[in-house]
Amino acid sequence: MTVRTTYLDANATEPLRPAARAAMLAAFDITGNPSSVHTPGNAARRIVEDARETIAGLWGVRPNGVIFTSGGTEADALAIRALGSERHIIVGATEHDAVRKAPVACDILPVDEAGLPRLDALEAMLSCGDGEALVCVMLANNETGTIARIPAAAAICATFGARLHVDAVQAAGRVPFRFGELGATSMAISAHKLGGPIGVGALMLTPGIAFGTPMMAGGGQEQGRRGGTLPAALIAGFAAAARDAIANLGDMPRIAALRDRAEAAAVAAGAEVYGNIADRLPNTTCLRMPGAKGQELVIALDLEGIAVSSGAACSSGKPGTSHVLQSMQVPSDRAAETIRVSLPWNATEADIDRFVDVYPRGAERLRAEARAA
Ligand code: PLP
Repeated sequence: MTVRTTYLDANATEPLRPAARAAMLAAFDITGNPSSVHTPGNAARRIVEDARETIAGLWGVRPNGVIFTSGGTEADALAIRALGSERHIIVGATEHDAVRKAPVACDILPVDEAGLPRLDALEAMLSCGDGEALVCVMLANNETGTIARIPAAAAICATFGARLHVDAVQAAGRVPFRFGELGATSMAISAHKLGGPIGVGALMLTPGIAFGTPMMAGGGQEQGRRGGTLPAALIAGFAAAARDAIANLGDMPRIAALRDRAEAAAVAAGAEVYGNIADRLPNTTCLRMPGAKGQELVIALDLEGIAVSSGAACSSGKPGTSHVLQSMQVPSDRAAETIRVSLPWNATEADIDRFVDVYPRGAERLRAEARAA
């Protein structure tokens, strides 16, 4: 008998939405390079440009402000390279490694106990510099789900003439927002975090912004801002998933209620929650069970058919203390007892029934083993 996996690791990647699958299957049958001038090339280009218009419209960006990339990591890296060169780079302490590990010297913006950028610190850092800065802050954190006050950060950046890049990879398709409301210079999103395919994303730009050296010049695609043949089918899947995700944002209260039920059961079993003192994504909870190592709990749950993750789980399998929890002043022994539960768009009551049944037992067994050791 095959046990159905209860998939609760959506922040690592979301299940593919049927609309995205259908759009990709149709587009895979079209032979043509979107840069070619003949009829098949035009057909492929039509797919890309329709998708660009869809994606631009969903977040209120001009179509020529959308640059397709291979995903969120590349969109973040491109923003830092093309918008941040010769600038003082300031990076939030809880940023994803896509931003933190971009190969540039940067200063770290401290966060508060919810993991949100400290606006007083931002102001102080910008007022010490010469104003030529690029500030990188994420809209929603991948480990705790906390949502930052981007417009407030943007207002401070504007006062000092600084650019603001927002990593919206985890927020896009889960909470409603328009690019213009953020007040940012640029924004990164990724298809597979909203139910599209892995391997495509976008950097979105405010109109008229000077764009520096691209990472890949290649054949001059994307108006010379990102070289490389555009993957028309992936881009079609991206647009279809994005449309579906935004059309179904009304389902997020259901997801939040499921998350809250899982969280309440975990708390009743002795867990504490990190990040719940701030606004959070509806699908995410970061749970610490005293006495149960997060990585062992992930394996114990996996053996029961439940997929969650520990620590900085985009890079799961890579042990180490979560820099997110560390910068929230969570001691490392506690951070090591943490797992992330993130519900996908298609989570069901039955998934949470399974979690509520298995998590307390699994956690108690590990705690008992730790006590006995
Ligand atoms: N930014 C955040 C906040 C993420 O959570 C991730 C992936 O988990 C990325 C960027 C990288 O996105 P991608 O996997 O599309 O490269």
